[in-house]
Amino acid sequence: MPKESLDVSESLEMVKLLARKIIEAEPILTDADRNLGDGDHGLGMQRGMTAVLEKLESESFFDVKSIFNATGMAMMSSMGGASGALFGTLFRSGAKTLAEKPVFDASSLSDFLVAANEGVQARGGASPGDKTMIDALDPAANESIKSKNLPIDEALEAVAAAAESGRDQSKDMIAMMGRAKTLGEKSVGHPDAGACSIAIIFRAMADFANN
Ligand code: ADP
Ligand code: MG
Repeated sequence: MPKESLDVSESLEMVKLLARKIIEAEPILTDADRNLGDGDHGLGMQRGMTAVLEKLESESFFDVKSIFNATGMAMMSSMGGASGALFGTLFRSGAKTLAEKPVFDASSLSDFLVAANEGVQARGGASPGDKTMIDALDPAANESIKSKNLPIDEALEAVAAAAESGRDQSKDMIAMMGRAKTLGEKSVGHPDAGACSIAIIFRAMADFANN
């Protein structure tokens, strides 16, 4: 049976699952950032998502907007550094588009992703092709527009596949932003760490909706 939308408690469980998947992926994210940056991305994301889980488990939520907003706030206040601000911005900009309604459907997903993508680009100044998290987020946002009328499980599957393909394509890019910029052409051959995080986040959301 296709799942048209997620209710508040399902959305909460979905975000908790993505937090746990990022925490589990710490070694992969650490390695990715070691190849191109300073190697702290895995621990930073792990710290951020641990704070997210604590917040989501200690508060009550009556709409989906507040869940994503709390997620962004917890990341921003616990992670610090460039990616704390950027991932915090992603979730908070996305949350702003959601009315205080009790369902999360493919149209909400698209509004969320388009605003999240715009918010992170405005905050960090990166564009598609610069070898950053935007290279997974931008294709995910574009795919969500095409998937607006699908059931949420199918829309999330399409978005996760787009994010993964974007992460894979980031391997061939030359870094133009962040710490990896100084490597120039030596940055080719490895995927961007932030793009790896984005792919894990949307894969976890798709797996939740499809199970
Ligand atoms: P730091 O770069 O401070 O060590 P992290 O290692 O946690 O922070 O995160 C690195 C990731 O942040 C990169 O892989 C990239 O995806 C993302 N990033 C860095 N700068 C930018 C930017 N200006 N815009 C978008 N994403 C960025
Ligand atoms: Mg780093």
